[in-house]
Amino acid sequence: MLVKSAEFVTSAVKPTQYPEALLPEVAFAGRSNVGKSSLINTLVNRKRLVKTSSTPGRTQLINFFTVNQNLSLVDLPGYGYARVPESVRRHWGPMIETYLKGRETLRAVVLILDIRRIPGIEEQNFIDWLSLYGRAAILVLTKADKLSKSAQKKQRRAIAGALNVDETALTLFSAKTRQGLPQVWSAIERVTGD
Ligand code: GDP
Repeated sequence: MLVKSAEFVTSAVKPTQYPEALLPEVAFAGRSNVGKSSLINTLVNRKRLVKTSSTPGRTQLINFFTVNQNLSLVDLPGYGYARVPESVRRHWGPMIETYLKGRETLRAVVLILDIRRIPGIEEQNFIDWLSLYGRAAILVLTKADKLSKSAQKKQRRAIAGALNVDETALTLFSAKTRQGLPQVWSAIERVTGD
């Protein structure tokens, strides 16, 4: 995908604040600090289009971006953050759930996992939940550069086993080396018909 333009559109907490549903959309989800902002920034070839989670403010909101004026990318707030106050956490699940259930133009959810960590019940539940609602999942193992090529393969096999998915469903990625960038774009293009 040749990215000619990428812009921030708006932040939202509820459907009335979402941009009009006109473009095919792909959302990105993952634990805080997993490398979600880095992945989106790498995809659109911009250093700081998406603010990293160390930047306070926009991270607890659903952020909408447009690429090449024909694709919508959505940055969902990171989950599993122990430091998030209970009052915030209570609104956060329903906010994401409302989006994932109701957004008509949503074509797939990219779930970003750290290649070094065997996913737990939270990830498994999230994947099951997506399939219950008929949402396609694109699974990406990021920070692949942290492991040798042989360790990457071994870890991919272990993660596939833990998630009960085929190994080929897991794309290895690194924001640092850009490994896997064409593969992630292909997966997105496949679901958005671009
Ligand atoms: P987010 O909270 O999920 O948006 O995570 P960030 O994109 O802010 O990344 C969290 C930390 O991991 C930062 O220090 C990044 O520099 C680092 N990071 C993200 N992706 C990669 C990667 O592919 N390789 C390496 N080595 N570090 C990464």
